[in-house]
Amino acid sequence: MKIFNTLSRTKEEFKPLQDGQVSMYVCGPTVYNFIHIGNARPMIVFDTVRRYFEYKGYKVNYVSNFTDVDDKIIKAANEEGVESSVISERFIRECLTDMKGMNIMPATKNPKATEEIDGMIEMVQTLIDKGHAYVAKDGTVYFRVKSDPNYGKLSHKNMDDLESAFTERTLKVSGEDQKEDPNDFVLWKPKKEGEPFWVSPWCEGRPGWHIECSVMSKKYLGTTIDIHAGGEDLVFPHHENEIAQSECANGEPFAKYWMHNAFLNIDGTKMSKSLGNFRTVREISEHYDLQVLRLFMLSAQYRSPLNFSADMMESAKTSLERIRTASENQRTVMENGAEGAMTEEETKNAALLKDYIAKFESAMDDDFNTADAVSAVFELVRFSNSTVKADSTKEYAKTVFDVMEKLCGVLGIITETKKEMLDSDIEAMIQARQDARKAKNFAEADRIRNELLEKGIILEDTREGVKWKRA
Ligand code: AMP
Ligand code: ZN
Repeated sequence: MKIFNTLSRTKEEFKPLQDGQVSMYVCGPTVYNFIHIGNARPMIVFDTVRRYFEYKGYKVNYVSNFTDVDDKIIKAANEEGVESSVISERFIRECLTDMKGMNIMPATKNPKATEEIDGMIEMVQTLIDKGHAYVAKDGTVYFRVKSDPNYGKLSHKNMDDLESAFTERTLKVSGEDQKEDPNDFVLWKPKKEGEPFWVSPWCEGRPGWHIECSVMSKKYLGTTIDIHAGGEDLVFPHHENEIAQSECANGEPFAKYWMHNAFLNIDGTKMSKSLGNFRTVREISEHYDLQVLRLFMLSAQYRSPLNFSADMMESAKTSLERIRTASENQRTVMENGAEGAMTEEETKNAALLKDYIAKFESAMDDDFNTADAVSAVFELVRFSNSTVKADSTKEYAKTVFDVMEKLCGVLGIITETKKEMLDSDIEAMIQARQDARKAKNFAEADRIRNELLEKGIILEDTREGVKWKRA
């Protein structure tokens, strides 16, 4: 299994630190608004990476943070006149809803920066003690980039490049003049009026962004991890700075493999909140099943830029329908097909299934080439359509079905079509609930109400009787 490692800029054979286990840290979103579909790309891509490791039999420890203290969150909170935790908690909830909609497996842990401040203070202190950081007059703590001979190894920048970049820029940012070197970056900064803050040995303030991930990764996955991942905009400075902090503080390598997804673009430009050219996952969910978005994202290898367009979404929608139609056909034959053992021809066909699996696996083994893996699934769909017939055996249909489920499962694609409940089914359940209530079996009545709610049916008890509507 090969992974393109940003650190070496080559595809490397994956060798886990511990046999049969993978530790992964994926930088998560800053929660001040609904996530856009650009943010969804790393979520879908790295969830698929995780699913493939699990398919291969690895146990995956998957950690992805929420950045819940940040200038943009504070700004949104001030605009609304609420505490910044109101904003961050709200958008963490919304983000988790979107993730569920995109069929992202729950992480082993989603740490929040504000709950890990003690660990950050501790790591900053270690960096000061080891001479890798210093405290400026106003209490800001900076990382001393020159103290780290390996600085630049991920982004492949050398100190000279960095320095000339800085001399070309006018240093207007406040506090910049108290740095020993323009490349030094903030580990801890003093509070401003009305901002959330924590007490530290240097000043009342809050952590810099980069230190969060170094600390949360260490706490939940250990000093050295297998994979650290995120969008390619994070290579510099975020990941470069994470490496500097972690390796200088711990004296151990930080991550073995660094994976970065390319951008989701719109009209050839990166989709981003600051450019205003974004679509939220929530907006997309109003027009499409989010499985369509997932299939669209996986139609490209993760290191290729992907352009969002209405046409591409329509084509992903048609593709999803093709998968689901084939699956539906398999399910029907599994129920109504011929009893007994597979025919000779079916046995031959069943033996061919391993070719589709091999094609799928070799695509995924080559740095998670989901574009080719999706093609392998479509070849399987065609094969299924031409061989699973109404008079096929149940056993053959089930054999094809199992393979397709397994491969689609790696892609996080749900093959079952969501069926709307018929009005008559709803009425029957409401009647059953009324009967339970009459019999004073309130637990059963509540259970039915909840079951309906899960199916998107809301009940209202009115004076005229029970009314219902779809959520
Ligand atoms: P942010 O909330 O901006 O820190 O972004 C969260 C994650 O989304 C990071 O891994 C970013 O690299 C990633 N990201 C943001 N915009 C895009 C985009 N247009 N395409 C792909 N990834 C993106
Ligand atoms: Zn990070």
